[in-house]
This record gives sequence, C-alpha cells and structure tokens, in this order.
Amino acid sequence: MTALPPGATIGIIGGGQLGRMSAMAAARLGYLTHIFSPEPGSPASQVAAKTTVAPYTDHDALRRFADAVDVITFEFENLPAESLDLLSSLKPVRPGAKILRISQDRLLEKQFLNDIGIATAPWEPVHDAAALAGTVPRLGLPVILKTTRLGYDGKGQKFCRTEADCAEAFATLEPKPLVLEGFVDFHSEISVIAARGEDGKISAFDPVENRHKHHILDLTLAPAPLPLETLAEATAMARKIAESLELVGLLAVEMFVTSTGTLLVNEIAPRPHNSGHWTLDACAASQFEMHIRAVAGLPLPPATRHSDAVMKNLIGPEDMATWPAILATPGLIPHHYGKAEARPGRKMAHFNRLFPRGSLPGEFGIEAALKLKAIG
Ligand code: AMP
Repeated sequence: MTALPPGATIGIIGGGQLGRMSAMAAARLGYLTHIFSPEPGSPASQVAAKTTVAPYTDHDALRRFADAVDVITFEFENLPAESLDLLSSLKPVRPGAKILRISQDRLLEKQFLNDIGIATAPWEPVHDAAALAGTVPRLGLPVILKTTRLGYDGKGQKFCRTEADCAEAFATLEPKPLVLEGFVDFHSEISVIAARGEDGKISAFDPVENRHKHHILDLTLAPAPLPLETLAEATAMARKIAESLELVGLLAVEMFVTSTGTLLVNEIAPRPHNSGHWTLDACAASQFEMHIRAVAGLPLPPATRHSDAVMKNLIGPEDMATWPAILATPGLIPHHYGKAEARPGRKMAHFNRLFPRGSLPGEFGIEAALKLKAIG
C-alpha cells in the first residue's frame, strides 16, 4: 500500500476513547476518520468526520463502511471472526486478521508467545471439571482461572486460593474452555508499546510501570523505575513479538516483573493502550500518532521521550468530582473523553504530569505531584 495522502479516510472499528485520541492524531496528519460503533454519540464519533452506528455483526453496514474508507484499523479488537474476514476481503486491515485472532484468545496468545521463546506465567487450558482437578496440582495454588475471550480490567477471571475456589470459579466463568494460570507474585507490572511500519521499522516507547486499583489501571509511571538491563530486555521482547507477528500498526505488551527481575508477558493488545496515554504529552509523537502513521503507511519517527511523566486515570463519578480541581491545578494536563455519564468503574478522562527527563520523583514525590489544588 502506498502512503495515504492527506484527505484520505481511515476507518476505525470501535468508538471509545482510544478511537477518539487516534482520530485526533489522524486529523493532525490531514486525514479524515470514519468510526464504526454500535453506540450513538460515542467518544470517537464526537471528533470524527463520519460515523456508522451499527452492531459489529451487521454485514451490510460493515460493507458500506469498508467502501467508504481507504484503510481499516481498530481501537476495539474483539470483532467477531466473520466480520473481520469480511472487512479483510474488502480493504486493507491493519493490524491484520492473524494478529487480531491471536490477541482475541488467551490460549492462542500464550501458545504463540511460548512458541517464539517469550516466557509467560505457567498456564494450561481447562476444558472440563475433571481436567481442572488434574491441572491445579501441576501449577500449584494459588492460581488464576480466566476466560479465553473478552476479559478486560479484571473481568472474566477469578483468583483461587483453594481447590474449592477453583471448582466454584470453573462453574461460574463462561464460555469454556478456560485457562488456568499460576499466580505470579510480581514486584511490578510494566508495559511496552511498539509501532511497526510497513517497511518493518520499529519504534518502541520506553517501558512504563502500571499500578492498578480494583483491577483497573490507576497510574502509569514513565519510565518504569527499574534497572536499565530490565528495561532493555522488556523492549527487546516487545520488538520480537511485533516482528514475529509481522505487525503493521501498534502493539502494547503487558508484563510482570518478578522479584528476581524475570519478565513474564501477561497479555498483548494490538492497538493503542491505556498505559500509553502519557505519550500524548511526554513524546513528540504519541502512541496515537504512531498508530495512525503505521496504518497510513507513513514513516515512523523515533519514540523519543522528552520528559518523564505520571499518568493518572480518572474513573467513574468519584474521580470526576475532582475535575474542577484538576483544571485549577497548575501542571496537570487534562484529557477528557466526552462521555456523558460517569458510571462507576468507567474510564472518563486522564491527566498527565510532566517532569524534566531523569527526574521522575520517588514514592512520596509522586503522591505530592498528584495533589490537587483546593477549590471552592
Ligand atoms: P488480565 O486481565 O490478564 O490483564 O489481568 C488483570 C490483572 O490481574 C493484571 O494486571 C494483574 O494485576 C492480575 N493478574 C493477572 N494474571 C495474573 C497472574 N498470573 N498472577 C498474578 N496476577 C495476575
């Protein structure tokens, strides 16, 4: 595919905040975006030239959408297989169907990672209750039982301390088969976001540390405060995954860092990622610009970080009650997603705070840096 000229249209499947920020990056490069989302008035459609509102299974609507765009990408990767095949037969889809299939299914994903020599937590597929009873002793308690599809933010998984917990979790989690994973007593969780262009060149952002609250990302620290060799190894792993998948697009790789410094990959996501939102303000080209550049066949600039950063997610009504204080606090860079209703657990916005490169504060400093101005 030759590079898309300005004025071309990029089709984005999914209407959430990742699509919104991708559409904003596309506009800066002179492209129009067309969003496909089942939800009217979605965050992405508010900033896009066009939107198709239809279910992901509506083949007529998918066909019309494909006719109207020059290339198709995703901010939501769980499109049904038949819809994906249909789109792929009509227009270039980036990243391609093979990558989406692997990342949609935890079993395929783990098998693929292990096959290319990337370590994960120990895991086994579990098809029925009898298999579960045999698998648990092999992995050793505690374990985590997970659905293979559609899990996110801790949904579709159960932590099991005892065999009875496992049996109960097995009975409630659907659909089968499930995957049983050994519990990793991790030191920290990190992620690496890498883009790969049509020419095979890779731009990888520095690894970052991710801290969760109630299974939802709360803070990202850029760069991750870890030894340089661990950071280099994490980046090399992300590059290897992007190359092995022949990725054209953007990929986030989530990893556990064990107490001995070993890296285990937990998941991959072939799209912009919440843990890359710091790049909007701390890098010349953000993850969203890298995504659009790769999809449009443009050259990728280096993923240079000009500042250190902390990203804070704003979740649900409680965090959004602090929005006026966030706007009044000097140094916080706000990003609102345009969602009308702040339901509990819903990602509504985030803010970034920058620090000169090399001066990311330690624990107490981070707490102080996130302090909001008292108002009213
Ligand atoms: P996931 O849905 O796989 O991204 O998991 C969500 C979160 O659950 C991760 O970010 C971890 O905090 C935790 N988690 C998932 N798998 C494991 C594991 N095998 N061991 C320890 N913690 C895990």
